[in-house]
Amino acid sequence: MEPVRTCVGCRARSSRSALLRVVSIDSVLVLDERAVMPGRGAWVHETPECMDAAIRRRAFVRALRVTGTLDTQTIEKRLNGYGNKVNGSK
Ligand SMILES: [Zn+2]
Repeated sequence: MEPVRTCVGCRARSSRSALLRVVSIDSVLVLDERAVMPGRGAWVHETPECMDAAIRRRAFVRALRVTGTLDTQTIEKRLNGYGNKVNGSK
């Protein structure tokens, strides 16, 4: 049985392989694409909807137990990348 994790964006449970792991390094949100980084991780579907929801609800801050501010621009850049792809595909 594959381990199941909860997406911090939509709160749905999914298998690990369907989710992207993120960790906090010095209060900067880092995408742990291969799920190998040490420390506390949070899991999110790699979709604009779930990432955006997690940022807006500060779900990463709670899930990673960050005190103070968390720099989420890594994921925001990723989100902007999706936007450009959508715009560019027209
Ligand atoms: Zn989700």
